[in-house]
Amino acid sequence: MTDSTSTISTVPSSPITPAKNNPEVQDQLAKVNQEIYERNVELAVRNRTLDTLRKMYEIINTSFGIRGTAQRLTAAITEELKFKKVYLALLSQDKSQLKMAVRHPIQLSEEEIMSYFKVPFDQISIPLTQSDNLCIKCVMDKRSRMTNFLYDLLTPLIDEKQAEELQKKLKIETAIIFPIIFGKEVLGVLIVCLDKHIGNLSRAEKETLKEITEVLGLAIRNAELYTSLETTTDKLKRANIRLQELDKIKDEFVSVASHELRTPMTAIKSYLWMVLYKNMQPLDDKVHTYIFRAYESTERLIRLVQDMLTVSRIEGNRMELRVSDFNLYELIDQIVDEIKVKAGEKGIRLTFTRKVKDVTLHADRDKITEVIMNLLGNAVKYTHQGGFIDLSLTRKDNTIEISVKDTGTGISEADKSKLFQKFSRLEHSYTKMAENTGTGLGLYICRQIVSLHGGEIWVDSEVGKGSTFTFSIPQETVQGDSHAGSST
Ligand code: ADP
Repeated sequence: MTDSTSTISTVPSSPITPAKNNPEVQDQLAKVNQEIYERNVELAVRNRTLDTLRKMYEIINTSFGIRGTAQRLTAAITEELKFKKVYLALLSQDKSQLKMAVRHPIQLSEEEIMSYFKVPFDQISIPLTQSDNLCIKCVMDKRSRMTNFLYDLLTPLIDEKQAEELQKKLKIETAIIFPIIFGKEVLGVLIVCLDKHIGNLSRAEKETLKEITEVLGLAIRNAELYTSLETTTDKLKRANIRLQELDKIKDEFVSVASHELRTPMTAIKSYLWMVLYKNMQPLDDKVHTYIFRAYESTERLIRLVQDMLTVSRIEGNRMELRVSDFNLYELIDQIVDEIKVKAGEKGIRLTFTRKVKDVTLHADRDKITEVIMNLLGNAVKYTHQGGFIDLSLTRKDNTIEISVKDTGTGISEADKSKLFQKFSRLEHSYTKMAENTGTGLGLYICRQIVSLHGGEIWVDSEVGKGSTFTFSIPQETVQGDSHAGSST
């Protein structure tokens, strides 16, 4: 390119003509002038380059999708560096074709483009096998090219005559093609079109265009990553929705299956109980043991089914409270009487300590019963023979705290964090004391019930000394209307 100033430089004024009297001085002056002039040209190019790069970085930071980013970048390059026209073509995902991506400014309508190429602009593509095409050459050997014939870029898409006509229409004299590279990978080409016939580019101009294509490479890779991230996020969102649907189906299935299982199991349990306790003929010891084990297992199964039903209600946000006012002491007396029988069988003493006056609770009576039964049941399960269990009530401001203290196995610090989660059977206490009798769902359900009432549940425990499980129920926060509904 001989007339380099006609491309991307802002042309400084021409060198000053030296004085005529001393030829040697004149010669020296002319050289200095020329040098200054060239430096000025270079500086002008550098200034424009820096401006363009700044603008490009701004665009990279504010736009994300590949199309938008490419469009804004080509517009910035064309306008800042005063090019006639700039095209950007990118390699297809399978790296088999070079596809037109964006152009600036838009001169030809889609109809005009269709009349030449038979497809819209963004579907124009050249297979990488077309080694005669200058753009493909540029992709293959990663070196820039220049031509004064548009046909070199468009072969074999259109013939020479059409290319000539198009070149005239677009008023393009020269086209320079630069590979867009990221790391070692070619991502596409930048085609810069000028309306002047030019020879070689100056060093400064070459550097400018190199820097610009490097930034373009970075921007395109960024935009590609962003687009693929968006696609992945979109896929994840859809997968999540599907999972939620499946979860709902699972909940419904568990709910229906549990209901269906409960009825026959309750019948089996009743018949076994009748054989054990209402049988006129005394049972053989062995038979009694077997029937008793079957009875216990059925009981456990019914509990498991009931717990699963409750968990499915909790997870499907279908657990509702039926609140009413009731006397907490009366309720606890009933529960303690029931549990005392089991505790007595294990030689465990169970007491109820009343630290406050009569308490009327505004809560779901059945669910509070479930929590207390669970805590007392666990205390009996995990306390050795001859141990001691105490249930006590305290009031803190407007909150009632109910504690179940036992002298059982205790829970290690590490295990405490696993409590109140689904299927949280702990290694130490569970395996030693209550093999195969729990579901690991009890405390999880307790926590959900307590938190639905606006309370909390926690444990203090020391291995070998025992545990105290406490839950709180605020007396006035539970409003009947907000949770009202049926509950089974
Ligand atoms: P499970 O039906 O197995 O008893 P829970 O959710 O009620 O299920 O309890 C979870 C685990 O917490 C139990 O398996 C047991 O290891 C431990 N645990 C619960 N209560 C006590 C307690 N009072 N003393 C010692 N360990 C307990």
